[in-house]
Formats: sequence, C-alpha cells, structure tokens
Amino acid sequence: MAGEAALLFCSNMRTPVIAANWKMYKNAGETAAFLRQFTGLVAKSAHAEIVVCPPFVDLPAAVDAARGTNIHIGAQDLFWLKEGAYTGEISAPMLTAIGCTWVIIGHSERRQYFGETDDSVAKKIVAALDAGLKPIVCVGELLEHREGGLTESVLAKQCSGGICGLTPEQFAKIVIAYEPVWAIGTGHTATPEIAAAAHTFLRSQVRSRFGASAESCRILYGGSVKPDNIKALMAQPEIDGALVGGASLDAAAFGSIVNYL
Ligand code: PEP
Repeated sequence: MAGEAALLFCSNMRTPVIAANWKMYKNAGETAAFLRQFTGLVAKSAHAEIVVCPPFVDLPAAVDAARGTNIHIGAQDLFWLKEGAYTGEISAPMLTAIGCTWVIIGHSERRQYFGETDDSVAKKIVAALDAGLKPIVCVGELLEHREGGLTESVLAKQCSGGICGLTPEQFAKIVIAYEPVWAIGTGHTATPEIAAAAHTFLRSQVRSRFGASAESCRILYGGSVKPDNIKALMAQPEIDGALVGGASLDAAAFGSIVNYL
C-alpha cells in the first residue's frame, strides 16, 4: 500500500471521542438528572466513545447513573502520587476504585489558575496510565501566542515537555485535546481549518517521536464547540472528536453534539 493510502486508511480507523468537561458546575443530584435524560439521547450512538467528566464529588453519582450504558465517566484532574500527606488531592487509584475510567490532564484552566506545568502533566499522565485510566491530555496556545506567531512553538513545547517523554506503549493509550485558550468559553470557535492545521502540526510533533503510531492517536478539538458547529469541525479528517465545556452542561445540546452525524 502506498504511504498516503496507508495514512488515509489509518485515519479512518480512529474512533471519535466526544467528551464533556463540566468544570465546576452541577451537584450530585443535577448530575444524576442530566444522565437520566442523556443516556436515552445517546443510547444508539455507537460511532463515538462518549465521556462525561463531572466535578470529583459527583463522580459516584455519575458512575451509578451511567452503569450499563455506553457513557464513560472521567475526572477533570488527578495527583500523580498514590497516597500521602497531600491535602485536597485525589489519586488515580482513588478514581478507578469508584469506577472512573477517563481523566482530563493539563486543561488550560489548571495551567492558568493552579500552576499546572508540562512537567506535572507528564507525571499525571504516567500515574493515570499506571492505574488504567485513559488520559485526555490538553494543549493549546493563548491569544497572545497566536497573534505573535508563536502557536507552533507553544504546541511543540507542550508536546515535548508533557507527551514526548512517554514510552511508545504509554503514548498509544492517550488522547490529545487541542484547545486554543482564546476559544475556550469565549464563543470564538477556531474555524475548522485553523483547528485542523493545529492538529496536523501536533500529529507531526508526535510522529517525529513515536513514528507511525501517531496516526492512531485521537486528537480532539476543544473551544466553544456547539451543536451548530460540530458537524463542520468533524468533517475535517484531522479532527477526531471534541472536548466540550459549556455546551455539555445541557443534556439536549450535548446529545446533539454527540449525534453530529
Ligand atoms: C473546555 O473547558 O475544555 C472547553 C472547551 O470549554 P468550552 O466548550 O466552554 O469552550
């Protein structure tokens, strides 16, 4: 098979991931109510992996409500050690013990407000994988980076510091989310072309470290994804799904994002 044809074949094999990042919204009762409605809306949606990431305290309610469905439950962060005197932190084994299977790592809000660095991202990915969690690893540039022509150098640095130190076996299990910070919660979605160009660049970065297995890595787009723009984003072959904040808080809206086809 010619090289290009092989790449096309591989890219078509990437199962999309549509993930909800609820940030600091909803309590346990609201979580259960959301899932009662949402499970029915996506019960037949077999084209994508569906992940809902509520706040830590809502995870048991979410796991209960999603049991036996096609919805996976994830956390929004973790700490890289298993246990110890780290007040306020939650470990990967604590998450798996309650039935959580995914985790978001390195979200820009963690980087901006809570001191997350590429180094801590790298440690958290390994801790998640050791416990059997699937990490969604977030990268993305600030508006000033994009306007200053620094997008690629920022993405390259986040990749090399946070992702490229993984072993090939570890890399094979992660999902990357490209989230331009200027598009998060602002209503300013990146155009499908801008997003796809960043995804192509990110794939080239991980390809230079991990070779052909980069073609199997799912790269999600995140930043003001809504029911009315998901289809155009997903039409880009380089976009393998979405990480959705605001629009994932409403079951009907998130249901129509999942069912973008
Ligand atoms: C996010 O929080 O990851 C996100 C993409 O938020 P929003 O969809 O609200 O921009």
